[in-house]
Amino acid sequence: MTKEESTKIVDRLKIYRQNFMIGNNVYSEWFKVLEPYDFEDVNKKLEEYLKNADNYNRIPDPYYLTKFLNTIEQKTKKGVIIVSCPLCNKKINDLEFSNHYNRCLSVKFLCKESKKYFNRELDYEKLMSASDKKFGDFYWNFSKKLLDQLPDGVQKHSLENSIRLYEGKEIKFSKEEVFEQCTF
Ligand SMILES: [Zn+2]
Repeated sequence: MTKEESTKIVDRLKIYRQNFMIGNNVYSEWFKVLEPYDFEDVNKKLEEYLKNADNYNRIPDPYYLTKFLNTIEQKTKKGVIIVSCPLCNKKINDLEFSNHYNRCLSVKFLCKESKKYFNRELDYEKLMSASDKKFGDFYWNFSKKLLDQLPDGVQKHSLENSIRLYEGKEIKFSKEEVFEQCTF
């Protein structure tokens, strides 16, 4: 984007966040980060950010606003490769593949376990389009509930380890202990 467009983004944020202090370097620092991206893409991300009630009074930084966006160069690169997700068969631009795949894997896991242990169908599409923050909260809350349902064994131990890691605690089971159950 141009310097004028980058300025527009900063000014727009200023309108919605009166506590956003614009010092001398703000415009140039933001421009440094935003320059490789399309104004429309970043503007859309900003709009989503401002609309989300979770972000009330929070101020995004330019790295947050450009996360997962493709730069203009990436977008205009000839011969964009389309791949299909082995989990859901959806066709995806290869630049978006790893984000899609990681989310798709987690959502498939949630859907399967929810059906199995809670007899509840989850909305795959809704979980796929949730923001990272919303999805992360849901995922870890679900995992904790699931932990209580799982029978003692490898899956329970490794899930408990993951939850503990996520919460910044020491893991409870060593690799050997987790897999002990596998040997007959
Ligand atoms: Zn998929």
